[in-house]
Amino acid sequence: MDLGYKNKNRETEKLQSMSAQIIDGKTIAEEVNRETAEEVAELKEKKGIVPGLAVILVGEDPASQVYVRRKVKMCEQLGIYSKKVVLPTETSQNELLQVIDELNHDPSIHGILVQSPPPPQIDEAAVVEAVDPRKDVDCFHPENVGRMLLGERTGFLPCTPWGVTVLLEKCGISTRGKHAVVLGRSNIVGKPMAALLLGKGASGDATVTVCHSRTENLAEITRSADIVIAAIGKPEFLKGSMIRDDAVVIDVGINRVEDASRPKGYRLAGDVEYETAAEKASWITPVPGGVGPMTIAMLMKNTVRACKMAMNEKECREN
Ligand code: NDP
Repeated sequence: MDLGYKNKNRETEKLQSMSAQIIDGKTIAEEVNRETAEEVAELKEKKGIVPGLAVILVGEDPASQVYVRRKVKMCEQLGIYSKKVVLPTETSQNELLQVIDELNHDPSIHGILVQSPPPPQIDEAAVVEAVDPRKDVDCFHPENVGRMLLGERTGFLPCTPWGVTVLLEKCGISTRGKHAVVLGRSNIVGKPMAALLLGKGASGDATVTVCHSRTENLAEITRSADIVIAAIGKPEFLKGSMIRDDAVVIDVGINRVEDASRPKGYRLAGDVEYETAAEKASWITPVPGGVGPMTIAMLMKNTVRACKMAMNEKECREN
């Protein structure tokens, strides 16, 4: 058990009165980012190449603008070249596909990301398929999803679920033989999360149950879990009474909850009722500062992977 990751933020005093150990995603993400920055520096020095990430934002959704800004800022911090493409809300599907096509052919860009959700006139599935699978750093393209499902672990992995597995590994929490219950079956979190936990080897080998909005007796299922991963987008849905003693609780949810006492008029809440769950859990992720920072860290890692894969391909062609 590694106590080095206990949260050091302002919540710490309150949290320490509870029994759960805090999985400090912020500190773990910083460690991952340091490794990535080293890889970037080495690529630059030894190969003369800079990994490049293009982030496309269609429209003016405020939350999406925040996410895009964070991704671009992280690129800057790690030495990754970033290209931010902002398109108006009324952008047509064809116009967006054209932009993606240009980036697919741009050798300075190794990763392409289209910030979700796009405006309603745009078919998200078509956008996902338009991105060159070799530049699909979100790991949304059917080819990469398929590879991940088949057990390939050297290509791209989906950022949020991959981040969760890194959190578990860094805290020395084994998933082997454990009953892991995933709440949510979305294509970006729930399904790939279940696939990684089900895969063979490190941070896999779990017995996995996936719950969704049609699941009956959900609390009975979550109470039988060694590890619960909540990704449903419902603030404070999972209560302490729904988990068993010493369960590991991973909260993927990021929800804005109205709160007049906060300067912005809202606060961020996860999908887990933190106070009651932390009284029973052995480990728990806070929101914010848990899974969130890991998602961006893994995106950066995928971008470096994309760059290395492009470089290998080029070297193979030239030899
Ligand atoms: P989606 O809305 O795409 O999916 C939600 C899933 O939860 C669906 O499968 C839905 O079931 C299920 N669900 C909804 N209500 C219930 C319920 N009452 N009981 C059981 N299952 C339910 O959400 P995402 O997967 O995109 O995101 C989930 C959460 O994670 C959100 O809060 C989001 O903001 C956050 N998120 C955080 C990230 C991070 O970096 N930390 C990254 C991505 C997302 P059904 O399929 O039957 O409708």
